[in-house]
Amino acid sequence: MAHIAYVNGAYVPHSSAVVHIEDRGFQFADAVYEVIAVQHGKLVDGDGHFDRLARSLNELSIPMPMSRGALKLVIRELLRQNRAQFAALYLQVSRGQAPRDFPFPSDIEPTLVMSVKRLKPFDFERTSQGVDVITIKDIRWKRCDIKTVSLLAGAMGKTEAVNKGAFEAWQVDADGMITEGTSSNAWIVTPDGELITRHTDSAILGGITRHTVLKLAADQGLKYVERAFSVDEAKAAAEAFTTSTTAFIRPVVKIDGDTVGTGTPGPFCLKLLTLYGQHMERQS
Ligand code: PMP
Repeated sequence: MAHIAYVNGAYVPHSSAVVHIEDRGFQFADAVYEVIAVQHGKLVDGDGHFDRLARSLNELSIPMPMSRGALKLVIRELLRQNRAQFAALYLQVSRGQAPRDFPFPSDIEPTLVMSVKRLKPFDFERTSQGVDVITIKDIRWKRCDIKTVSLLAGAMGKTEAVNKGAFEAWQVDADGMITEGTSSNAWIVTPDGELITRHTDSAILGGITRHTVLKLAADQGLKYVERAFSVDEAKAAAEAFTTSTTAFIRPVVKIDGDTVGTGTPGPFCLKLLTLYGQHMERQS
């Protein structure tokens, strides 16, 4: 794969792609981002990601850097230049560059940066392997519904997970309820066979994969409930899994070292993973 990035109108070698030190994304994390999976050269759930980008920008009063149509053309060209068939497309929009000062400046142009990272083609065998998660305190700010680049708490949590040999850290609020992973949404299947994921509010990011999985479940007539669940409930669940754009649907077989269900990926999760694989093949 070639390595070309897009920075404010120019396609440039990744190694020399830069933004200014006064960019507010760098100074204040005053920026939002999206990650879109590319399979067979096609964006997976592109419109969902563009809708969420528009929402994140709107919540922060950052203008869209270009129309959605223009954005799609730039993305297509970037994927072409990178010869990217299976990739993760990273798109970041900051408020722009201005002398460092807290209040939002009014008359600056947003910074738009895009880059492409290799992503393995979806492979049911690999993705269906069970993973471990740990639980950690949720120390993030109170607007997790906005997909900002302020990812330090997530980076700290994921580092702790990796150091403990786990795939992900699920974050826990002051009431002992799981909010979400550092970069994924959390799910369980109760012993009664009910699919549960936390309701969306400002405590979690409304994952695009989460949305798709709920839709796939509904299409199959599978029962689901959007509500918070505790660490204890998750550990006593029949199944657990975690979802994101780049991880797809990963069965969780241990939480803090405690075995979930049978300790192997469960039928509900594997069924959804099959459906999700088919969904990704249907992208146009
Ligand atoms: N929650 C958080 C905090 C995330 O960073 C992500 C991944 N960006 C997700 C959930 C999953 O979202 P998506 O399915 O859109 O990748």
